[in-house]
Amino acid sequence: MLTRFAPSPTGDLHLGHAYSAVLAHDAARAANGRFVIRIDDIDGSRSREDYVAASLADLVWLGLAWDGEPVRQSARLGDYATALDTLRARGLVYSCFCTRADIAASLSAPHGPSGPVYPGTCRDLPAAERERRMATEPHCWRLDMARAVLTTGALAWEEQGQGERVADPLAHGDIVLARKDAPASYHLASTLDDAMMGVTHIIRGADLLASTDVHRLLQALLGLPTPLYRHHPLVCGPDGKRLAKRDAAASLASLRAAGVDGPALAADLLAARLPTGYSLRMP
Ligand code: GLU
Repeated sequence: MLTRFAPSPTGDLHLGHAYSAVLAHDAARAANGRFVIRIDDIDGSRSREDYVAASLADLVWLGLAWDGEPVRQSARLGDYATALDTLRARGLVYSCFCTRADIAASLSAPHGPSGPVYPGTCRDLPAAERERRMATEPHCWRLDMARAVLTTGALAWEEQGQGERVADPLAHGDIVLARKDAPASYHLASTLDDAMMGVTHIIRGADLLASTDVHRLLQALLGLPTPLYRHHPLVCGPDGKRLAKRDAAASLASLRAAGVDGPALAADLLAARLPTGYSLRMP
């Protein structure tokens, strides 16, 4: 068994991250497996080195030990580009010039499981226009979802303890695989990395359950194995809302500064015992 914890270094870790890390760590240790860390630092404008160091220090404080060196997404850009080339060669991706505002303004953009569904404006641009605009206009790369789904057929994954879940990638529309400002989207980078790292069990928050529709599709398109999944409830604050990076009181740094014992907190989280005022909820 190999599990992972994959923080994005864009803020301080909080109790929700600790819960996720503790579950993944414990699952690996209980099975005599491996627990690895991935730093999701692909977003160059928001990722910060001090958050990387602070996140690792938080995990050490919790008493968690990981195997090997943390994997950095920023060091894996070549692999993301190769995967994108593969999909491009199969005619499954297209360049898109729309801005967020363009998409928001489009009346035909319904809401999908992970945000507005792209209305397909750039999907069928004439080749000459596409070529001309690509030379001068910033663009992202989108997956042609309908075509992609035709090539894979029906897909499912195993959600631990719940059995099979049918993937519904079509509901997400033509998702972005490479952004204007980042060489790969979360979906592409995360799916490729989990396969490269040999992750067998993905244990993460239920906020990412819908993303698994897309990850399962990318696995099928790119010939990658499908791990088992376990999407756990999210830690919510006294207001009943899931924690966010701005909730300073729940940050591991502030708990540590307040004298909380890290390994004792980890043991409590593992037993689903949360500090007063906090609760676990499915979104
Ligand atoms: N880096 C992602 C996050 O912090 C987690 C990715 C994943 O677990 O798949 O939300």
